[in-house]
Amino acid sequence: MTSLNDQKDALIATAKRCFDLRLQTNAGGNLSMRLEDRDAILIKPSGVGFNECQRDNLQIVHLDGTLEASAYKPSKDLGFHLDLYRIREDINAVVHCHSPWATGYASAGLEIPCLTVQTIEKIGRMPLIPLCPKGGPQTDREISPVFRDPKIVAAVLANHGTIGVGSSLIKAQYLVEIIEETAHIAFVRDTLMAAHGKTLADLPQYGTAADANKEI
Ligand SMILES: [Zn+2]
Repeated sequence: MTSLNDQKDALIATAKRCFDLRLQTNAGGNLSMRLEDRDAILIKPSGVGFNECQRDNLQIVHLDGTLEASAYKPSKDLGFHLDLYRIREDINAVVHCHSPWATGYASAGLEIPCLTVQTIEKIGRMPLIPLCPKGGPQTDREISPVFRDPKIVAAVLANHGTIGVGSSLIKAQYLVEIIEETAHIAFVRDTLMAAHGKTLADLPQYGTAADANKEI
């Protein structure tokens, strides 16, 4: 059994990694993990930056929404974090960042293409989730239906940011890093293609290693 402080330290280390990689500056974004008793999560509070997460400001919230006593307000996105843990037993961590390359794509209304061998193998598809019908930020109403598909592990929120989920913190963390890296690569590809008058039809077909080994 991992102690609560060890679980808090793991969340703090992930938050610092996001900050160090510039995936999330300021006090935006949020991240959480399912506690070992499985009935509750640990989450970054509202108004606290990823780089300022500490043992005494992380919040414990039960899956029914009950908050453990805290001097801090829960993250604005607490609702969608809780719902993802309720609908997917395999999810033990959620990392949500406002990283610039990916959010740029999402703000242009473009789904980030899974164009590298790694994204094809590890992600498959990163759906673009639109704003809520009245234009406000996405909630569990927009986000949960997408993640009900057990194959979806990463998504991008229009005008907002990215979500990576996983069976562990490091898996969710890697996904938000891959989303951002892929958006950057896609931007370079699309800019160079436009500069050289190329279209997607000029590119080779790309697929998974399994596709490559299929009998023709
Ligand atoms: Zn956000």
